[in-house]
Amino acid sequence: MIQHVSVIGAGTMGRGIAFVCALSGLSVSVQDKYEKGIEDCKTYMEKQFKRSVEKGRISSQEADQKIENIEYHQAIEKAVSHSDLVIEAVPEIMDLKVEIFKEMDRYTPHHAILATNTSTMSPTEISAQTSRPERCIALHFFNPVPKMKLIEVICGLETSEETVDRSFQFGEMIGKECVKINEFPGFAVSRMNCLIGNEAMNMVMEGVGSVEDIDKAMNLGLNHPMGPLELADLVGLDTRLKNMEYLHQTLGEKYRPCPILTKYVKAGHLGKKTGRGFYHYT
Ligand code: NAD
Repeated sequence: MIQHVSVIGAGTMGRGIAFVCALSGLSVSVQDKYEKGIEDCKTYMEKQFKRSVEKGRISSQEADQKIENIEYHQAIEKAVSHSDLVIEAVPEIMDLKVEIFKEMDRYTPHHAILATNTSTMSPTEISAQTSRPERCIALHFFNPVPKMKLIEVICGLETSEETVDRSFQFGEMIGKECVKINEFPGFAVSRMNCLIGNEAMNMVMEGVGSVEDIDKAMNLGLNHPMGPLELADLVGLDTRLKNMEYLHQTLGEKYRPCPILTKYVKAGHLGKKTGRGFYHYT
């Protein structure tokens, strides 16, 4: 039974995952290497719980209790020491994820599941250097986590059926729907979505249409709730570039990142989180 969840990396995804877990009544530890990550996460939690109270989903007393059930740490060993499930949400860099998984393995109780929120990468490779590959898995959440219903559950080579079952039970516990996907770069959603986003960027570069019109075309023409460029801004252009680079390296030429994407990242225009990407945000 999963009662305590630890989230490693309190950025765009980590804080959203921590929030839905806390909202569902689980006790939660959030870890980030940087103080700013922790401080931004606390501010996000306050805003999200305030919104939940305003919408009548929970009382302000319940919100206070749930906020009290969240611990914050910069040291990973403290964050995972009493965890039943650890979810890693650090940047999409294989070497970093492998190192973090080794640390998670060292300090987390033996029975616990170690999960990665990677968008594209191999859970087999990420978990290969742990002592418990049968209890390692990818749980791919979507952005923004409180709104998006899906978790892609991706098994590594040695992931046990018990770990899959426990992961599905966890998904249900936090009000999400799970799909089981076999390991392959980009899984199902990122593989399709990254290609759509990259094609939209190529079309901007070729002058096929303006950013606004390309998004509007997909929004109204195909009923996508958000255009692909607005979505890339929401994801974070740095994160999207890393996803494209991995898919390009593993799946080939059609995933070559659009030069505009690389240029924006070099300029520090990372999308919504920095106030500027394909759109400007105030
Ligand atoms: P992000 O850059 O917003 O957040 C990453 C966080 O990790 C930051 O707070 C950073 O301070 C922290 N961090 C960096 N190094 C660390 C370390 N060594 N130890 C602990 N914390 C560390 O990234 P994100 O967009 O949240 O992406 C995280 C993961 O989730 C990536 O694997 C990404 O591919 C995946 N993902 C992202 C999205 C999305 O829409 N952004 C969607 C699904 C999955």
